[in-house]
Amino acid sequence: MSRILRINTKEKTHSFETPSPDIRALGGRALTSKLILNEVPASCHPLSRLNKLIFAPGLLSGTPAANSGRLSVGAKSPLTGGIKESNTGGLVSQKLARLGIKALVLEDKPEEDAFSIIVIKKDSVEVLPADEYRGVTNGDMITRLWERFGKRVGVASIGPAGEQRLTAACINFADPKGHPGRAAGRGGLGAVMGAKKIKAIVVDDGGAERIPLHDPEAFKAANKKWTELLTSHPVSGQGLPAYGTAVLVNIINEAGALPTKNFRSGRFDYAQDISGETMAANIEKRGGVISEGCHPGCVIRCSQVYNDKDNNYLTSGFEYETIWAFGAHCLIKDLDDIARMDRLCDDFGLDTIETGVTIGVAMEGGLIPWGDSKAAIELLKKVGAGDPMGKIIGNGAAFMGQAMGVDRVPVVKRQAFPAYDPRAVKAVGVTYATTPMGADHTAGYGVCQNILHVGGTIDPLKKEGNVEISKDLQIATAAIDAAGLCLFVAFPVLDHAEGLQLIVDMLNAQYGLSLTTNDVVQLGISILKDEHEFNRLAGFTAKDDRLPDMFKEVFPPHNTVWDFTDEEIAKAKAF
Ligand code: SF4
Repeated sequence: MSRILRINTKEKTHSFETPSPDIRALGGRALTSKLILNEVPASCHPLSRLNKLIFAPGLLSGTPAANSGRLSVGAKSPLTGGIKESNTGGLVSQKLARLGIKALVLEDKPEEDAFSIIVIKKDSVEVLPADEYRGVTNGDMITRLWERFGKRVGVASIGPAGEQRLTAACINFADPKGHPGRAAGRGGLGAVMGAKKIKAIVVDDGGAERIPLHDPEAFKAANKKWTELLTSHPVSGQGLPAYGTAVLVNIINEAGALPTKNFRSGRFDYAQDISGETMAANIEKRGGVISEGCHPGCVIRCSQVYNDKDNNYLTSGFEYETIWAFGAHCLIKDLDDIARMDRLCDDFGLDTIETGVTIGVAMEGGLIPWGDSKAAIELLKKVGAGDPMGKIIGNGAAFMGQAMGVDRVPVVKRQAFPAYDPRAVKAVGVTYATTPMGADHTAGYGVCQNILHVGGTIDPLKKEGNVEISKDLQIATAAIDAAGLCLFVAFPVLDHAEGLQLIVDMLNAQYGLSLTTNDVVQLGISILKDEHEFNRLAGFTAKDDRLPDMFKEVFPPHNTVWDFTDEEIAKAKAF
C-alpha cells in the first residue's frame, strides 16, 4: 500500500506512515486539500513552522494512463491567505507514485539560515546540506542536480524568488529534457518551500516496481480508448499540439476577451505578433520543438521549445497566459522579449501570470512606460538581484498596486487575474470570484462553453447559465486534479459522454473498485467543500468573492460590465 512520507525540515528527519482510512482512497488535490484542512491551523502564518507543503501524485499517476503524470502541490498560500492547490507537470509525480509515496509532506522549519536538499530513492530518504546552491537559478539547479544524481531523476526546485520568500514565487519542475519550464505556479508555494529552507527535492525511482494494476487487461483496454479520445478531439488532438496553448491568443482576441492595457479593452492590435501561429512559425525557422509533453505519457503534447533568432534555447512551456500577461496586458508586442521574460521567471522561480500582471500594474502606476519590453526585462532582473524593487515585483500585483498607489488592480483574494476578461467570458469571471484559490482560470475553465463551444454553448456576455457552468466545471476540475490528469483532457471529456466513464474504468481497473461516474462527481464536491471550509476558518467571507470595482467599467468591444450580485455568485458555492 502507498504510504505518506513526512519530512521534518527542522530536525532533518523523516518517517513513513500508513494513511488513515479517511484519506486512503484520496490522491492529488483531494489529498493535499484534506491534509491541509486536517493538519494546518487555518489561522497560521503561511511562512511559519505550522504550515505544511504537500506534494501528492494523482490517483492514476505512475500508471500508463495517458496524461496522468500531473502533481498537486498544496499549502496555505502566502499570497491569498487561503488554501492552495497548484498543479504541475514534470517528472516528480510519476516517480513518487512508483516509489509508493502517496504524499510527501514537508513540516516545521529550521532555525538556522542554511538550505538543504531532499533526496528520495527507493531505499533511502536524505536531507542533505545544500548551501552551495544558494542563489542558483532553476535552470542551473536542474543541470547541477542531473550531473550529480543522473538524468533520470525528477527535480523540484526554487529559485531566488522562493529563497527570498516572495509571494509570487513558484516551485519549478524539470521537464523530460531538463528545462525548468514546468511550475506549481500560483499562490506563492515557492515561498513556503523557501521558508522551510528546502532548495530542491530530487526523486529517483530507479529500481522501483511498476504500479500494480488489479485488472491489467481492463486497464489497457480503457487506456487505449482514452488515448484515442484525447488524440481525436479537435482541441486536444490538433489545436494544442500545433500551436500550444498560445493557439488561444487569436481566438480570445477575436472573441473580444483578450484583456489589453490592464483590462481596458478586449482586443490587442498586435495579437497576431504574439499569437501561437507566429510562435510556431518562429520555432519552425529557428529549430526549436513545436510539440512535446511535460511528462512521459502525455499524448496531447502542448509544450514546446522556443529558440531565439540565433537558434539558441530561450524558453519552454511558453503558455498563452504568460504571453498574454507580458504581452497584451502590458502592450508589449515583441514575442522574443516576452519569451525572455518567461525564461527569467522560470530561472528566478516566479509565477508568470502574477508577475506579468504585476508589471502591468507597475506601468499603470507610471513606473515604466506601457509597451516598453526592455524596461520590463530590467525590472524583472531586479528580482534575481534581491533588489528592494525586486521584492515589490516578486510580491505580486496587489502588493505592487499598493506600492504604486493605483486603483486598477486586477486581483481576487490578492491573486492576479489570468488572461480572460470576466466581462466577456462571464463563466470564467464566476470562477475567479468563487474558487477557493483566488483568481484562477484553471479552477473552472468556462472558456469551453463561452468561447470554444466545447461541452455546449453558453452566451459569454450574459449572466444566464454562467454560474451553473462555473460550478459544474469547478467540481469536474477538482476531480480531474485528484486523478492526476492534465486539465486539457476536459475538452474531449466534456464533448463525449464516454470520457468520464473511461476515467472511472481506469480507476476501477487499477484499484479493483466499482466506482460510478457519480462517485467521481461526489469526489469533486467533497474537495471543494474541504477547501471552502479551510478558507472559512481562515476568515474568508462573501466579500472576498467579489471582483474589483474596475470590472464595473464598460468593456469594449462588447461594452459589457461585470454585473453579478453577491447572491447570484454565492450559488456557485452551494453544494
Ligand atoms: S497537454 Fe500540455 S500541460 Fe497537459 S500534460 Fe501534456 S504537455 Fe503537460
